[in-house]
Amino acid sequence: MKLNEYRKKRKLGMTPEPWGADNAQKGDGSLSFIYAIQKHMASHLHYDLRLEWRGVLLSWAIPKGPSLDPAVKRLAMRTEDHPVEYSDFEGVIPAGQYGAGTVMLWDRGTWHPENANVDTSLQSGEIKFTLHGKKLQGSWVLVRTPGFGKNPSRSTWLLIKHRDQYASTKDVTGEEPRSAASGRLLAEIARDEGGDIDRASQGDPAGQERDAASMKSISGHIERTRWPY
Ligand code: MN
Repeated sequence: MKLNEYRKKRKLGMTPEPWGADNAQKGDGSLSFIYAIQKHMASHLHYDLRLEWRGVLLSWAIPKGPSLDPAVKRLAMRTEDHPVEYSDFEGVIPAGQYGAGTVMLWDRGTWHPENANVDTSLQSGEIKFTLHGKKLQGSWVLVRTPGFGKNPSRSTWLLIKHRDQYASTKDVTGEEPRSAASGRLLAEIARDEGGDIDRASQGDPAGQERDAASMKSISGHIERTRWPY
């Protein structure tokens, strides 16, 4: 997949997301690549897993996010490849644009495929890899499930933690809800970037809702104060 599908869904100049370079080609030299997970409060909350390969970010949308518990399999729907620059994106996608909502850089770092031939792993439907992120580490596997196989950009996979010293029953998405890049919650990103604070706060842990509400009243106060001007 190239970036055609990614670009078809977006309007250049209408969204702050990167467009991507056309000449990007990488993926056979070093075995350390960009890894990122973006927590995305769009029409539904999900976590977008991005793994750099051959100049793009292979992407999966994970509705419940990753689990550190090897007994838990998390649904991961393959989505269109994204430009490598997307791994730095945190902010607000404007209303009316594709993926409209608030995006948080929930985790980032590097990944290493356990089998150097990632193209073969993608084809066979089993990618074993190691993550070196701020929140996720150790060995993982993505396994494609049978069926829905016709469109490779919409196949259904499972993300599973392998048993190693990083496996645990800790609720990593619940206990570590803040951005790995800025330390912000979704509501704080929405507040700073002009997004929908109420909507974004629905993706933050319930205990943080009061903060979001107080931020809203503060920004509402500022709006009212500015109104005559
Ligand atoms: Mn998304």
